[in-house]
Amino acid sequence: MSDDKIIDGKAFAATVRARVKTQVEALQKDHGITPGLAVVLVGEDPASQVYVRNKARQTKEAGMRSDEIRLDATASQEEVLAVVDRLNADPGIHGILVQLPLPDQIEENAVLDRIDPAKDVDGFHVINTGRLQVGLPALVPCTPRGCIMMLKERLGDLSGRNAIVIGRSNIVGKPMAMLLLQESCTVTIAHSRTKDLAGLCRRQDIVVAAVGRPHFVKGDWIAEGATVIDVGINRIPKDDGKTRLVGDVDFDAALPRAGAITPVPGGVGPMTIACLLANTITAACMANGIDEPA
Ligand code: NDP
Repeated sequence: MSDDKIIDGKAFAATVRARVKTQVEALQKDHGITPGLAVVLVGEDPASQVYVRNKARQTKEAGMRSDEIRLDATASQEEVLAVVDRLNADPGIHGILVQLPLPDQIEENAVLDRIDPAKDVDGFHVINTGRLQVGLPALVPCTPRGCIMMLKERLGDLSGRNAIVIGRSNIVGKPMAMLLLQESCTVTIAHSRTKDLAGLCRRQDIVVAAVGRPHFVKGDWIAEGATVIDVGINRIPKDDGKTRLVGDVDFDAALPRAGAITPVPGGVGPMTIACLLANTITAACMANGIDEPA
């Protein structure tokens, strides 16, 4: 077992955040722009509160403007839409993120669709989805963007490689597959109806697991030397009654065969917020018609 096989998402995310900070400084100095990110939280879901707090802290640490808008769990759809409208109209806000899940009385798609696509740093708006699909510049969902960055950092050119994405959700699987295709990979998208998944996986240079089932991908599904990106975040019980996080891949069994693999925790997860900050830079530059600073 060798540690250099393990892709350290925490360390890589720190380098992405450092780059974002330098970009913020350059945007302020050269263009007088301070990128701004607004996060909207409806209700008091404990996990969402932690995410929102982390996002706000990292946004401030990067030197950006950070707005946090908190609404009661009983807020109406109209109230949430009014907040989105106000943020859409605020020229100092370049990115808007509405923390999901939303309470039952609020229709998620109506809220996501109300966000100005140019400020849609989550990349969930149909306009951004469509732009990604046809290869136009787009705001891309953060988790897949982070996965691609890690793959390119580890493997360099991805062109011609065989890649499988297990999972076809709108937030991870589908955009991940599109990004791999953009990198000229030959892409297989697998889902719950896929036949002979193990056999398909064994033919791949890259395996991306976004299923949401603990240890779903077995070690012997991984071809010798393949790169494994584990998006899954699953909480499982431990013997002492507490819980721990595991991925969708049976890490210990996959590690000896893989050429490189992301751990859970400490792999894809930390990259997601770093990419949110990177997306806010992208949005601020696109809004002002300027190239992203190096
Ligand atoms: P979804 O539940 O939306 O999608 C899961 C996908 O897995 C579906 O497409 C489903 O197929 C597929 N699937 C389910 N069972 C099987 C099976 N037996 N064989 C093959 N495919 C199967 O999940 P998400 O995409 O939202 O998230 C996936 C995982 O990634 C979760 O663990 C989530 O917590 C994690 N995640 C992590 C993030 C991070 O920052 N690291 C960010 C976002 C998500 P079908 O469509 O046919 O039902």
